[in-house]
Amino acid sequence: MTKPILEVDNLGKIYPVRQGLFKRGNLIAAEEVGFSISSGQTVALVGESGSGKSTVGRCLLRLEEPDSGSVQFEDRELNSLSERQLMGLRAKMQMVFQDPLGSLNPRHPVGKLVAEPLMLHGTVPPDKIKDRVDELFELVGLRRDHADRYAHQLSGGQQQRVGIARALATNPDLIVLDEPTSALDVSVEAQILNLLVDLQKKFQLAFLFISHDLSVVRLVADVVIVMYLGQIVESGPVEDVLNNGFHPYTRGLVSATPIEHPLEQKERISLQGEPTSPIDPKPHCRLLSRCPFAKTECGHLPAKLKEIKPGHSTRCIRFQNEHQDGHWKPETTR
Ligand code: ADP
Ligand code: MG
Repeated sequence: MTKPILEVDNLGKIYPVRQGLFKRGNLIAAEEVGFSISSGQTVALVGESGSGKSTVGRCLLRLEEPDSGSVQFEDRELNSLSERQLMGLRAKMQMVFQDPLGSLNPRHPVGKLVAEPLMLHGTVPPDKIKDRVDELFELVGLRRDHADRYAHQLSGGQQQRVGIARALATNPDLIVLDEPTSALDVSVEAQILNLLVDLQKKFQLAFLFISHDLSVVRLVADVVIVMYLGQIVESGPVEDVLNNGFHPYTRGLVSATPIEHPLEQKERISLQGEPTSPIDPKPHCRLLSRCPFAKTECGHLPAKLKEIKPGHSTRCIRFQNEHQDGHWKPETTR
């Protein structure tokens, strides 16, 4: 296993919630988030809307200041870097956004938008910028004459190709893709996913792939991290997590049709009700109010992420307590 290029530890982000002049509480957008990514690897961040996926992505790239934790990128602690050093490193960490049109400046032709990061970071000499833009357009499957168009004159798929070309311009090692295909039609989505996979192979890119679509995640990811209300509730190899998830939330997410819980073969999971409020949450399991398997201990013990199998962790207290020696310990009563 190669050394990770990105190592995130105990990352946290809190948004104060105000009501008029008064602070009403703290919205915990991300808490105790830790994971790593190696070159050529795709780590997917999944979870319902509002679970903190984008917050984590933005904090990694310091588009937003985290409140706690450390982010090491290529052996450098981002916390300790000055704005100028950070700027230098940004060339190596890029982001692709969900809304391609909204993320492209409407006032400039897209060729200029792709040239921008090259100029900003001085990646290539000024007289080579045009050649590099041509090369990037070809890499992402656009024609050179597309460069003279404005974003609104392109299709959604073409716009996202421009977004990808922009992200690739400075030869990054890591790209955070925040729902890169959610706004696209299914057929276009497949093309963009194929493009991303090809580019990853070609340049050994590390991807943090944020998505709420598990069928897409199954196609692209090596490792899956499931987030719920700001916390990682489960993480592990893609097949393990999606086929044999330990956490009731994961299993509820995996299929719209109810599925069995590993601890109770006869019971089925369907997550009912609304998520609890992310404002000043209690330390115990945040799924408590929606979980059909909750026991008394779930409302009392603090829920901590624990490794159950090598590389596969869960925050489900009940599972941690009842799973022994790598075998299920099925229960007949609740
Ligand atoms: P996701 O990407 O998983 O949908 P987000 O990271 O966007 O989730 O949001 C996580 C939580 O943080 C949500 O409850 C959201 O409302 C809140 N949040 C995100 N950005 C801000 C902000 N700038 N100010 C206040 N709350 C925010
Ligand atoms: Mg988001």
